Amino acid sequence: MNILVYINTSNALAKSALEVVTYASKIGGNITVVATGAADDATLAKLGEYGAQKVLVDRSASAEDAQQITRLIAKAADTTGAELIIFSHDLVAKAVAPRLSVRLKAGLISGAVDVPNTANGFVVKVNVFSGKAYGQVAVTSAKKIISLLPNSFQPAATGAACGVEAFDGAVGAAAIKVVETKKPEGAIPLPEAELVVSAGRGMKGPENWGMVEDLASALGAATACSRPVADIGWRPHHEHVGQTGVAIRPNLYIAAGISGAIQHLAGVNGSKVIVVINTDPEAPFFKAADYGVVGDAFDVLPKFTEAVKKFRASQH
Ligand SMILES: Cc1cc2nc3c(=O)[nH]c(=O)nc-3n(C[C@H](O)[C@H](O)[C@H](O)COP(=O)(O)OP(=O)(O)OC[C@H]3O[C@@H](n4cnc5c(N)ncnc54)[C@H](O)[C@@H]3O)c2cc1C
Repeated sequence: MNILVYINTSNALAKSALEVVTYASKIGGNITVVATGAADDATLAKLGEYGAQKVLVDRSASAEDAQQITRLIAKAADTTGAELIIFSHDLVAKAVAPRLSVRLKAGLISGAVDVPNTANGFVVKVNVFSGKAYGQVAVTSAKKIISLLPNSFQPAATGAACGVEAFDGAVGAAAIKVVETKKPEGAIPLPEAELVVSAGRGMKGPENWGMVEDLASALGAATACSRPVADIGWRPHHEHVGQTGVAIRPNLYIAAGISGAIQHLAGVNGSKVIVVINTDPEAPFFKAADYGVVGDAFDVLPKFTEAVKKFRASQH
């Protein structure tokens, strides 16, 4: 099968890019990556280690412009004879994959969490109802598109670097103009983070976030927050997780002083391990937690940080 994987890069390769290429290699076939963004050829060549046979790069297209990206991928799909196109399930995929689906008459599977089962047709397991359930979606069209939920697959490097070729995606004029780009300030971007320490209104005010940041820094984690906290201005909006914020799937999500409303859970319940710290034993978040601490975050967080620091020190 000819597979085309789309990635957008900054200077480095995002974990999600390595995940989608690994995912394609698990499916198996001729894997071409079509890339946009700033990464240089030497960086893109590393995708070969994860299973790509070739990378086509068009740095003239803007990942913010869904129409340009759609034209680029459609042309790359045509050139490579792609039967399957794979995206990471991010904002670009949400805007581009449906357009491409119409243009290529390709069935679209959105939010996949496993490789297709081809024993009887082409069936893919997906996350549905904000992660509350799984569905099995069968696609019958000749061409297919999959967007893969981040953190569903561990990147695995097994091969060697591959060739990188400049590709003219005939992307045409931009339909939008990016006026300003603000990068999140945290050292670890939230969507990429393996570990996240998050806090809510239970922290009482922005002046108390030091203990949240201390734990995050001891663990090497990103920080996040509930929506009201961002709405009131205690924390920046890019930290807000949930149905209307960033959806994350880290290996560890620690939530302090967050009640666990369904809109919050919708963005975090794909986390592998959830730890909840709350004074109220009836807080709904405990039902979704793997580990729960009924206690005051103001006591628990500093103790937690101390314990992490002690543990880290004992490892050296
Ligand atoms: C359309 C819509 C979309 C929404 N989207 C989102 C979204 O994307 N993300 C999101 O987060 N919310 C979202 N919300 C809001 C959501 O419904 C909740 O109101 C919100 O998540 C509650 O935030 P919170 O848990 O920080 O605050 P609260 O509900 O006020 O909970 C604070 C918690 O802290 C605990 N607590 C208090 N003091 C302490 C202490 N000292 N130590 C430990 N625990 C303590 C309390 O017991 C309580 O459980 C949305 C709502 C709507 C209507």
